[in-house]
Amino acid sequence: MTANKPWLAELASFLKPDQLSTSQAVLEQHSKGESFDKGVLPDVVVFPESSQDVQKIVKFAYEHAIPITPVAVNSSLEGHTVPLKAGISLDMMRMNRVLQFQPEDLLIVVQPAITYPEVNDYTRRNGLFFPIDPGAHASIGGMVSTNASGTMAVRYGVTSDYVMALEVVTPTGELIRTGSQARKSSSGYNLKRLFCGAEGTLGIITEVSLKLVGLPESASAARVPFKTMKASIEFVTSLIQAGLPIARCELVDAYSIKATNAYNGTNYPAETTIFLEFHGNEQGVIADARLAKELAHDHGALAFESSTDPKERQILWQARHTVYYACLALNPGKSSISTDVTVPISKLPEAVETSLEAYRKAGFEASIVGHVGDGNFHLLIFYDADDKAGMERLELAGHEMIVQALSLGGTCTGEHGVGIRKLKYMKEEHGLSLDYMKLIKKAFDPKGIMNPGKKLPA
Ligand SMILES: Cc1cc2nc3c(=O)[nH]c(=O)nc-3n(C[C@H](O)[C@H](O)[C@H](O)COP(=O)(O)OP(=O)(O)OC[C@H]3O[C@@H](n4cnc5c(N)ncnc54)[C@H](O)[C@@H]3O)c2cc1C
Repeated sequence: MTANKPWLAELASFLKPDQLSTSQAVLEQHSKGESFDKGVLPDVVVFPESSQDVQKIVKFAYEHAIPITPVAVNSSLEGHTVPLKAGISLDMMRMNRVLQFQPEDLLIVVQPAITYPEVNDYTRRNGLFFPIDPGAHASIGGMVSTNASGTMAVRYGVTSDYVMALEVVTPTGELIRTGSQARKSSSGYNLKRLFCGAEGTLGIITEVSLKLVGLPESASAARVPFKTMKASIEFVTSLIQAGLPIARCELVDAYSIKATNAYNGTNYPAETTIFLEFHGNEQGVIADARLAKELAHDHGALAFESSTDPKERQILWQARHTVYYACLALNPGKSSISTDVTVPISKLPEAVETSLEAYRKAGFEASIVGHVGDGNFHLLIFYDADDKAGMERLELAGHEMIVQALSLGGTCTGEHGVGIRKLKYMKEEHGLSLDYMKLIKKAFDPKGIMNPGKKLPA
């Protein structure tokens, strides 16, 4: 292998022996992600341990025009980490330390591969947390790079809202810092925001300064089933219009509730169900739940169960927490794919119903889980990877869903990102702005080595 790629020996000369691997198993493991997209095997997997390692590796890759595909936990869903060109798979997972914790500034500085549950374990004792929760145990660097959000976005926003500063190795191998510890700034262009959601195409994030928030004193949770999806979404809209400070607001469709009943041995009505959580002080969260109950009643809810007790809250939300694995268990032997779109909140019922119909017409079971408080919904679809005609129908149904989301004034992805799978919608969604995005990419990455083939179409 080194004979065809003489650069491998040179790369190995400035790293420790255990910092790179060309073993077949490791290369294969780094050639795929959560999606079914197929890429190529990287030539080598490299494990940097410091910003300086990353800088040396990227400088070397730039000189030799070697493609780099960055990867962390590898939970992204649209083919982001699948190498489309061989070269280096840059596995960031050894850079997972807390570098600085300043509780008095509500600030933590971390290396990029620490996961968000690890950050929260670290900061909880000081009554602080990082409130973005995408579900999978994702890394902070991966979350910044996809601008991840999740169940609490309706209250707390998205990852980029918490990024105070970044250290980045640019594709030409320079180490830059953008942002500061100041809570606000009007200085310079907002480069740090540009790296949020860049999917590793503009450089390697080597350090992240994150804003933290106080842990809520109290929380209340509720589970609210409805006869129709439309009624459930109208209920959510009424909560938002009433100005209720919802912390989480999740929709799980009837199909998925049926799956969770089978998986958890429960017997909840197999109807579209809204899961709610409110954060605040004891009195406040009880009052919020009371008002939500009245609105639920006005919208024909079949029931409204709520609690402030931590154990009971856990039980109320059990179906939401287990939905992914429950749906997998209901479809043994099938592969699954998850994808997301976001539309204006008022368009949600239409978007959800038409998307489900598109998949049903194409012959697929799909489960809907929605962060409905911000107009974002996810479809989990089960398919048989050997059925070629089925795969074509699957693509077509996905296409229908996205075209519809765009026509309703939405976006082809609210939080999962573009990766490979959504490249073809960039022109339609961004028009002439796409040309400016390409200019930015060219300015940062003149040789096109950084995660090539992702985020922007060629
Ligand atoms: C069951 C499940 C549920 C999910 N639910 C949600 C959800 O609710 N909301 C949501 O937003 N996402 C969700 N996701 C998707 C996924 O968890 C997020 O996209 C997450 O941000 C990816 O983090 P990661 O550490 O796995 O990154 P990876 O998948 O390893 O990488 C993601 C991207 O970041 C780049 N990258 C990684 N590290 C760096 C770095 N240090 N510098 C530069 N680029 C880098 C990679 O090249 C890639 O483009 C879910 C995934 C699963 C499997």
